[in-house]
Amino acid sequence: MNYTTQMNAAKKGIITPEMKIVAAKEKMNIEELKTLIAQGKVVIPANKYHTCINVNGIGSMLKTKINVNLGTSRDWKDLDMELKKANDAVNMGVESIMDLSSYGDTQKFRRKLTKECPAIIGTVPIYDAVVYYHKPLKEITARQWIDIVEMHARDGVDFMTIHVGINKNTAQRFKENKRLTNIVSRGGSIIFAWMEMTGQENPFYEYYDEILDICQKYDVTMSLGDACRPGSIEDAGDISQIEELVTLGELTKRAWQKDVQVIVEGPGHMALNQIEANIKIQQTICQGAPFYVLGPLVTDIAPGYDHITAAIGGALAAANGAAFLCYVTPAEHLRLPDLNDVKEGIIASKIAAHAADIAKGIKGAKDLDYQMSCARKNLDWEKMFELAIDPKKARTYRQQAKPEKEDTCSMCGNFCAIKNMNRILNGEIVNIYDE
Ligand code: SF4
Repeated sequence: MNYTTQMNAAKKGIITPEMKIVAAKEKMNIEELKTLIAQGKVVIPANKYHTCINVNGIGSMLKTKINVNLGTSRDWKDLDMELKKANDAVNMGVESIMDLSSYGDTQKFRRKLTKECPAIIGTVPIYDAVVYYHKPLKEITARQWIDIVEMHARDGVDFMTIHVGINKNTAQRFKENKRLTNIVSRGGSIIFAWMEMTGQENPFYEYYDEILDICQKYDVTMSLGDACRPGSIEDAGDISQIEELVTLGELTKRAWQKDVQVIVEGPGHMALNQIEANIKIQQTICQGAPFYVLGPLVTDIAPGYDHITAAIGGALAAANGAAFLCYVTPAEHLRLPDLNDVKEGIIASKIAAHAADIAKGIKGAKDLDYQMSCARKNLDWEKMFELAIDPKKARTYRQQAKPEKEDTCSMCGNFCAIKNMNRILNGEIVNIYDE
């Protein structure tokens, strides 16, 4: 192989097998795709050791992609259940899975995913370090944090969230400018606490070049974590968030100099009226690097329904240029999601992503909507179920309240506007009353 990463290949003018697959999936000219990869505007996360991967591209000009988080925790240790979630996610067409395991034999589970799962696999090595070293946070050395990154790369992980943007400067700004909800990023809070207790610089920042060398060697896509993402709409767009974003912009450039592919992570909780500006700022500062949003959740008051608050924000974010949506489930803020929560979260994210793709004018995005409208006009219920984003739910709802007239539904019955319009335009009589 005469290239290191997909970006390196693109810069050299080489078309890789992965680029061919992505171009075909996106119905995109391959030269155009190659240019976007060379510019850092599209990434193809594909670790050289994740050989069973079904590759996908991530970038604002491509179809919006979805990530599902799963993994064990001290309170939820069932590995089989997490594997079932992974399988369900793949079967529902999700492109990416992040393993956020923080309990048990994390390496075994991670390796199983990269050996058998075709989705893009992401991890957050910082969580794993705490589990792997079995010692208090303060005693983990800078070297050990970096070693975990290499271990994940060797295990075949395609992208890693690295909380590198919260360096000493950002931490100082954060302390000087009080926030309502402090740092809500799990990784961000861990590294901030480590920096406070040891007095040392963030090791991911200090040894960033070394991490980039690891990413280059395995072609791991760097996902620049946003430790200071707002955890409440009150904190959205504040000094800490923007200070960190500026650092992420600089780190993006440094990664590109080594041909490492980069995704930039974003909010978080954010009011609707701030989302568009936030995306534009990110795209300017990070020069078009794909934006990966964790929501945004547009209100703080809906625990139990945060898949909806996130889908509203996610649709707006993606319509304005975010490329990658991290799903949010109804269990957000409450507990680890179960299988049904995962399904609900995926459906909500798919709706958000699809709505954004229509708004962005992604090639072919409206095709299914057109077919669905034709099926509705023809009162073709089987076709409607087939095209539905959740066929099972659509079918169940109809069966729960069967109409007297098979071609209509129990919403309007004889008053069915579609049926009556089809009839009258066909020269037939419309009675309604005595049918
Ligand atoms: S009965 Fe009403 S809701 Fe049902 S298909 Fe006809 S117009 Fe639509």
